Amino acid sequence: MKSDIEIARAAQKQPIGRIAARLGLTEGDILPYGHDKAKISHACIRGLAERPQGRLVLVTAINPTPAGEGKTTTTVGLGDALNRIGKRATLCIREASLGPNFGMKGGAAGGGYAQVIPMEDMNLHFTGDFHAITSAHNLLSAMIDNHIYWGNPLRIDPRRITWRRVMDMNDRVLRQMVIALGGPANGYPRETGFDITVASEVMAILCLASDLADLQERLGRIVVGHTIDRQPITARDLGADGAMTVLLRDALQPNLVQTLENNPAFVHGGPFANIAHGCNSVMATRTALALSDYVVTEAGFGADLGAEKFLDIKCRLAGLQPDATVLVATVRALKMNGGVARADLGTENVAALRAGCANLGRHIENLRRYGLPVVVAINHFSSDTEAEVAALTEYCRAHGVQAVLCRHWAEGGAGAEDLARAVVALVEQGGNFTPLYPDDMPLRQKIETVCKRIYRAEEVEFLPHIIERLDEWQAAGHGHLPVCMAKTQYSFSADPTALGAPEGFTIPVREVRLSAGAGFVVAICGDIMTMPGLPRNPAALRIGLDGRGDVQGLF
Ligand code: ADP
Ligand code: MG
Repeated sequence: MKSDIEIARAAQKQPIGRIAARLGLTEGDILPYGHDKAKISHACIRGLAERPQGRLVLVTAINPTPAGEGKTTTTVGLGDALNRIGKRATLCIREASLGPNFGMKGGAAGGGYAQVIPMEDMNLHFTGDFHAITSAHNLLSAMIDNHIYWGNPLRIDPRRITWRRVMDMNDRVLRQMVIALGGPANGYPRETGFDITVASEVMAILCLASDLADLQERLGRIVVGHTIDRQPITARDLGADGAMTVLLRDALQPNLVQTLENNPAFVHGGPFANIAHGCNSVMATRTALALSDYVVTEAGFGADLGAEKFLDIKCRLAGLQPDATVLVATVRALKMNGGVARADLGTENVAALRAGCANLGRHIENLRRYGLPVVVAINHFSSDTEAEVAALTEYCRAHGVQAVLCRHWAEGGAGAEDLARAVVALVEQGGNFTPLYPDDMPLRQKIETVCKRIYRAEEVEFLPHIIERLDEWQAAGHGHLPVCMAKTQYSFSADPTALGAPEGFTIPVREVRLSAGAGFVVAICGDIMTMPGLPRNPAALRIGLDGRGDVQGLF
């Protein structure tokens, strides 16, 4: 079997203008970045406003194992398969964070014969969007400390500044620091730190903004800290929103690339799936919907976090109507959810698989709760046995859901044609999407609703200062916002080791944060890392150029 990068390099890429033409776009509509990447211009997007919208299909998954369960791979495979059966389908996925590639993570462009190319670019600098986001974020940081340096007319309390700095690198030493040391010329020393760029609220804003005006509006609403009298200070108070919008103007335009089978793919934005909502930009999804009959998109993590946020945050805020969901399951991950250790996943174990199916069953029920039809995609691994696949298919049948065995990783779009036909049937049958809770439900009750109805928690524990904070935001007019849950992706509970379908647990809400610009309230339930570190043997040790100048060791 060839490696992902070998498969990607052997692909017959088409010039990006040809891919754009497939979407009905002309040379004037796109801004090429080299031969194989382009942005869709703001002017072109403005002209699409009245177009009829295609059908939106969400790819989500059971609770993942550390390896990832193949959501991106399945998104790409399904997009290619829909094109093979004669539908005009486009896929929409997130951009990769550069930092983690030098740590231990694999790429974010899919895998095997279901990939988006050029994958090296996509996993490195790509079209510079993350650079723009980093710059816009840090401009605001610099303007805060500069404001204080020049007399602090807004009376910002340096101890109550919550806006940090960001960088797209895994670097743990930057998590907590004291800045402005070295004397009066360097400003006023205070404690702060860095997060990774994908954790920036600017990233979440870019991904939820509907156009440039909305982008500036949202940037202006960012709360950076409080005054001595405990009044919120926003980016607009500091006058930073205009310049930040300038830095982000180009980055807001969605990026067009192609799959290995030369089908159009939008790769745009990449917010964290814990303290943010974890899906590609609204701009990309809307543009794709205006240009194709089917749009296949992905949400990060398992369906308890990823699909919940896609539906309750992104679809709610952008007014999107998804038509169907694909729940990716692997025999390996279900066995792990059924108690098998990672090292033993290669051995047949039908009993463990059956036990692990409780996890799948809960996700199926949850997705139906939103009024959406579901199909299970069994992402086939070569170690899966016939008995295991049969037991999984039988479990789904007993729960009234079709399960389709998919081989897109090994065979490309041809391996997912059955899935594509099942998706078309579901879309035609139609759904009736309703978010989990109404906008006017109080913030605290929204958090409880997600914990109890999606995770099935017995109790939700709020520390007193958290209730105070939520009441304060409710009173300040933020009560209509959706909530963004930050919890482990490995379990329905807050305990990453409680796999399967745990019951009787408590979700502790440890911290809440207001992302007033993005438009959600973050509820942190557990330890959430916003600046990762590198492992003892980082992937960077194996990355380099070969004699031809090609990248080696990235995947
Ligand atoms: P997710 O989007 O759920 O995180 P990805 O689609 O990125 O998962 O896949 C994670 C990793 O698993 C990738 O390296 C991919 O190549 C690999 N992978 C996915 N599906 C298969 C499969 N059927 N067989 C072998 N490896 C696979
Ligand atoms: Mg993915």
